[in-house]
Amino acid sequence: MPRVESKNCYGCAACSLICPVNAIQMVENAEKFFVIQIDESKCINCGKCLQVCPLKFNHKNQVLTSYAGYSTDGSILKQSSSGGMFGSFAKYLFNSNTNVKVFAVKNDLGKVVYEICTDYRDLEQFYKSKYCQAFLNKAFYERLISAISNEAVCLIIGTPCVLSGIKNTLLAQKAKLTSCIFVDLVCHGVMSQSVYHTHLEECKKRWGGVVTQHYFRYKRAVTKDCPEGSHWNLYKVNNEIIIKKSDDDYYMQTYFADLAMRETCYCCQFTGTNRIGDITIGDFNNAHILCSQFDGLRSVSLVLVNTDKGQRFIDECNNNTVNLQPVDIKLLQKFNTPLTAPIKRPFQRSLFYTFYNSLGLSRTVSLLNYKYYLRKIIVAFGGKKLLLKIKALLGRSYIDIE
Ligand SMILES: Cc1cc2nc3c(=O)[nH]c(=O)nc-3n(C[C@H](O)[C@H](O)[C@H](O)COP(=O)(O)OP(=O)(O)OC[C@H]3O[C@@H](n4cnc5c(N)ncnc54)[C@H](O)[C@@H]3O)c2cc1C
Ligand code: SF4
Ligand code: SF4
Ligand code: SF4
Repeated sequence: MPRVESKNCYGCAACSLICPVNAIQMVENAEKFFVIQIDESKCINCGKCLQVCPLKFNHKNQVLTSYAGYSTDGSILKQSSSGGMFGSFAKYLFNSNTNVKVFAVKNDLGKVVYEICTDYRDLEQFYKSKYCQAFLNKAFYERLISAISNEAVCLIIGTPCVLSGIKNTLLAQKAKLTSCIFVDLVCHGVMSQSVYHTHLEECKKRWGGVVTQHYFRYKRAVTKDCPEGSHWNLYKVNNEIIIKKSDDDYYMQTYFADLAMRETCYCCQFTGTNRIGDITIGDFNNAHILCSQFDGLRSVSLVLVNTDKGQRFIDECNNNTVNLQPVDIKLLQKFNTPLTAPIKRPFQRSLFYTFYNSLGLSRTVSLLNYKYYLRKIIVAFGGKKLLLKIKALLGRSYIDIE
């Protein structure tokens, strides 16, 4: 019987739950991505693992309606990466139900894991994007299935590949999904947690102390001198706050240059407008340029509604915890590569892990990321407007560059 293979694995752990003889474990591969390992001595070749694998089965929905907007709660908006959709959806559920479980990802000092939030007061630990592969295992699924059978209202959020594995598993287990809201992220790709850990170690050496807190996409006020909105990184070292622009941060440089993504991300089958979730959320990049109603705003989310259940939920949240307006999907796609196609694999990807294993992260990215220096030269000669024009011509931008 055909069965799952480690080289195509997204690390969703769905098959580890479904395998009848417990033959599948989650391990790290040579590049330190979480993938499956099959114990040959246990495997009975039943093929059940393939029945839940996102590689084989995707229950996708076509986008029905598209919106852009932001949270009505200033505190959620400030703490989130984008327009605070995740926090606002969760807030709505916690306000209107007693038994709520939110399945999302937190960053526990470099350990990026799928976890469960049962109390609104703990929700802020889950805010913000973490730009690496998040870990989940069999225990996560067991808790999710138990929550559903205890009739909890569940909000489940993740990258589309992992969400697909979660959905397949729940369907295979015949779980009642009427009280589950699935939210997938527009997703550019993931790097391994090992690269993130190396980065934190290098920061420790550079700044002379352990990083005790790190936020990707920390938001700074928009001023003339500091116009980049949410693309900052905040580090806490020796009780001191260090803020780095994403463009000058070695980890984020590697991420945005697509130098070290998991191989499956370069041929991702979850891009475009066929979506896994009831709702899809992402960044409406350059909203302030593309839509006059968002003039002056930098943290605007895009929201795609993909099912009738998703539409009912958005209608309930709108003008309550979120403020959304219909926006043509073509505008939302304009500066957002993964809403049309997978990212391109740069030629340097083949060299990345070889260099990284001997040189570490900062030296490797300094050697391989020639586009960073090219950008600096363009900005020095023609300013950011020229850079924006070139990016628009190439039709590719993820970073809000104005
Ligand atoms: C790896 C990754 C790549 C992304 N790429 C794009 C992109 O190319 N274009 C785009 O428009 N948007 C992208 N996003 C989504 C974007 O960064 C914001 O997360 C999204 O707009 C939601 O913002 P928010 O303010 O509503 O929520 P936030 O408060 O920022 O919450 C984000 C939610 O995402 C979950 N999450 C965070 N990190 C991970 C992770 N590593 N794996 C799974 N779930 C996670 C958290 O549980 C949290 O619930 C990406 C997100 C991630 C995690
Ligand atoms: S083929 Fe069956 S026994 Fe073997 S790993 Fe897959 S699910 Fe487990
Ligand atoms: S089901 Fe998930 S963990 Fe198992 S092989 Fe497929 S992607 Fe990997
Ligand atoms: S780019 Fe695709 S394969 Fe990679 S993490 Fe995102 S959804 Fe999964």
